[in-house]
Amino acid sequence: MMHNADIVIVGAGPAGLAAARSAARSGARIALVDDNPLAGGQIWRGGPQHNPQASQLWAELQQMANVQWFMQSRVIGTAAAAQLLLETPQQAFRLGYRKLILATGARERLLPFPGWTLPGVTGAGGLQALVKGGYPVHGKRIVVAGSGPLLLAVAATLQQRGARVLHILEQSSWRKLAGFTLQLARTPAKLRQAWQLRLQLAGVPYRADSYVLRAQGEQQLSAVQMMVAGRRLSMDCDYLACGYGLLPNTELAQALGCRIVEGAVQVDERQQTSLENIYCAGEGSGVGGVDLALAEGHIAGIHASAPGNPASHWLAQRRRQQAFARRLDSAFALRPELRRLCAPETLVCRCEDVAYDALQAHASWRSAKLHTRCGMGPCQGRVCGGATDFLFGWKPDSVRLPIAPARIASLMALHPLESECDPECDPECDSGSRFTRFATVRGKPAV
Ligand SMILES: Cc1cc2nc3c(=O)[nH]c(=O)nc-3n(C[C@H](O)[C@H](O)[C@H](O)COP(=O)(O)OP(=O)(O)OC[C@H]3O[C@@H](n4cnc5c(N)ncnc54)[C@H](O)[C@@H]3O)c2cc1C
Repeated sequence: MMHNADIVIVGAGPAGLAAARSAARSGARIALVDDNPLAGGQIWRGGPQHNPQASQLWAELQQMANVQWFMQSRVIGTAAAAQLLLETPQQAFRLGYRKLILATGARERLLPFPGWTLPGVTGAGGLQALVKGGYPVHGKRIVVAGSGPLLLAVAATLQQRGARVLHILEQSSWRKLAGFTLQLARTPAKLRQAWQLRLQLAGVPYRADSYVLRAQGEQQLSAVQMMVAGRRLSMDCDYLACGYGLLPNTELAQALGCRIVEGAVQVDERQQTSLENIYCAGEGSGVGGVDLALAEGHIAGIHASAPGNPASHWLAQRRRQQAFARRLDSAFALRPELRRLCAPETLVCRCEDVAYDALQAHASWRSAKLHTRCGMGPCQGRVCGGATDFLFGWKPDSVRLPIAPARIASLMALHPLESECDPECDPECDSGSRFTRFATVRGKPAV
């Protein structure tokens, strides 16, 4: 099956919704794609009704007849030039575009430490996402740890749902945090938000210079050993929610051939990537929070839909929020001690069970992949790639299609493309889609 749109937007988080609204005003046919059942992305997970800004965007978009929604639809790769391949729980289909806006967001950075694979240890945003989806934590004792402002938002969500947040452990130093807090005056909305969160979390100890050393338990997490401002402490708990900041989701951009710089999709002042007609907005082009994602989304939507200039307040908001993002980066830079937490047997790649000592002999991500299968499991390096970048300085250098686990039947949805090819064509010929070559060899499924 094939659909077409003038502008396809991948990701219906704040950046994607903003892009859709701005682009739809031009009258262009917009397709908005997201792999979740509801729009809203990470921050508005569970639907836009929980946030006034989100519900306004949502309400406007609902009125626009030229916006077509493809929810629970995951882009798993490219099908041909200007065509994406998507998978839903029921089927696969192709989606053609004239212009493409990537608004694929970010994921958490998880770092390995002894015991981090025990049941009960989760990402910080990971546990928040589960809880927003209805996972019960009432009465549970939870340690929240890692780095960045997300820890406060996570702790607040957990507390609202009746959990006992025992500690928030922030690895950054008091000195850096104090500098960052003073600078919050430049972004009054963020200052207000931080103040509200602190009030809501009054009574929950927030420790700087602090991090998890080890998660303990037999079959299940039972306690956390931690370094709290230079002192080793142990604490019984039911959950440990631990995340070290966010990393841009760049797989689709990489698969399309967009240039990636320092882990994010490179964009110009119009939010256009290194490829013409492909734009990127939100956390994929650099982590900076919801206000930056919204501004970038509007700017990308306007440039993709018409040769006009975005309203000056979006440009000003982007500038302000980019400066905020730089301050965020430096205040929450990861301390070197976190590189020394792994024991030799600590798993780094949990999909393929690759331990820390098996990786130490390797000089690059590629060598580790080839010899140990690190990063070759179902998550395709989304978890261990961020960890090995921090631990060893390795940069993941390639993306294989499909970019996410997919059903064989979805790959076979590309099969009709073969009829467009010369049957005598060399199997190594690259004139068809790279994906077709992956899925089929001369008309037979590749096994
Ligand atoms: C786990 C997590 C929790 C967070 N919680 C908070 C919070 O509580 N408060 C806060 O201020 N900030 C939070 N953030 C930060 C917040 O995500 C950003 O500030 C903001 O939402 C970024 O908006 P975005 O549109 O760029 O990305 P996102 O909101 O991440 O939206 C991207 C969307 O694209 C979809 N997508 C990605 N790839 C594909 C694909 N191949 N096919 C189809 N769809 C795809 C994703 O499922 C997602 O819905 C959180 C981030 C993460 C990772």
